[in-house]
Amino acid sequence: MSKKISIELARRVKDLPPYLFAAIDKMKQGAIKKGVDLIDLSIGDPDIPTPKHIVQRMKKAVENPAHHRYPSYEGMLSFRQAVVDWYKRRFNVSLNPRTEVLSLIGSKEGIGHIPLAFINPGDVVLVPSPGYPVYPVATLFAGGKAHIMPLIKKNNFLPDLKAIPVSILKKTKLMFINYPNNPTAAVADRGFYKDVINFAVKNNIIVCHDAAYSEIYYGGQRPLSFLQMPGAKEVGIEFHSLSKTYNMTGWRIGFAVGNEKALAGLGKIKTNLDSGIFQAVQEAGIEALTTDDLVLRKIRNTYQERRDILYRGLKDIGLEVEKPVATFYLWVQVPNGFDSSGFIALLLEKAGVLATPGNGFGAPGEGYVRFAITVSAKKIKEAVERIRKIL
Ligand SMILES: *Cc1c(COP(=O)(O)O)cnc(C)c1O
Repeated sequence: MSKKISIELARRVKDLPPYLFAAIDKMKQGAIKKGVDLIDLSIGDPDIPTPKHIVQRMKKAVENPAHHRYPSYEGMLSFRQAVVDWYKRRFNVSLNPRTEVLSLIGSKEGIGHIPLAFINPGDVVLVPSPGYPVYPVATLFAGGKAHIMPLIKKNNFLPDLKAIPVSILKKTKLMFINYPNNPTAAVADRGFYKDVINFAVKNNIIVCHDAAYSEIYYGGQRPLSFLQMPGAKEVGIEFHSLSKTYNMTGWRIGFAVGNEKALAGLGKIKTNLDSGIFQAVQEAGIEALTTDDLVLRKIRNTYQERRDILYRGLKDIGLEVEKPVATFYLWVQVPNGFDSSGFIALLLEKAGVLATPGNGFGAPGEGYVRFAITVSAKKIKEAVERIRKIL
């Protein structure tokens, strides 16, 4: 008879916050089992396929034996150059491809790793909440302490930097911000970014701006890059993803740009953990970054039509929601008498519509639900009709 060992998780895993979407997953599986014709508006993953020209380039690139070997850690220079050219065209920001661009296996990878480069046990990381769950988890994995910056309606879902206690700031090394924002769909203006830069200089904090949704916008108001502000490159970096812009979530390619020292620190972690992005995917990435704007406009128009249907519909029903000018999310206040989870359960049980509870993104998200417009206009119309019938 063989003896068993005791397999015990490390504290950093045991200390992970409860997975708040687990209950939702269970409800979803239950509904599917019961044969409910589910309309799933909980998915932050584009339903539109990757544009054809990118797939074609990948098909060719995969045949090239040079790409079958280990890629370079920091990314092919040609990919980094394509990033530089895109940044110049899109934001009029100049970057050095050798020192100010780092390729990432999706931006989640970079976000997840950067605290390892700069955070010692006990150091504080400022984290927006509700927000992308990777920010606090990456902080925890590095032994740091996440200090929550609540994003509330009164402040246009921007963090109140003045509300952060001095005692916290003394221990703060790094901060995450994310605009256009997931899940609130808020955007930031120049004034906010300037405040962040002054705040970072004053308190010696590395700024990590997550710009995953910079290209999902409506009405011609193009979101800003943090790096467009004077002094930004001295204090921080910006994370970008090809996932949302080009419908490439499955390809795993993104990049970080900006402060040379911050990127070198992240690069150091990466050289010791991963071996870069498959070069054929990087070639496809180059193709993506030179996509004709007509193609992107078509994608944006698709989302805009869906946004308009859902926004109008929910407004007509009497729900409190602002019309998003960016991202593919609607951040909706739950009706009186409900909390996030209760409203989600009602929508699922009575309407067969699945949304994400706001508190799953952090406690300050309580009282909201997030709808993602990653299903067809026809399905969104039907979802609205079903919700209308039950409210
Ligand atoms: C989707 C998303 C990302 C990550 O995307 P990758 O696929 O890892 O590039 C990062 N930040 C936010 C806020 C996101 O919603």
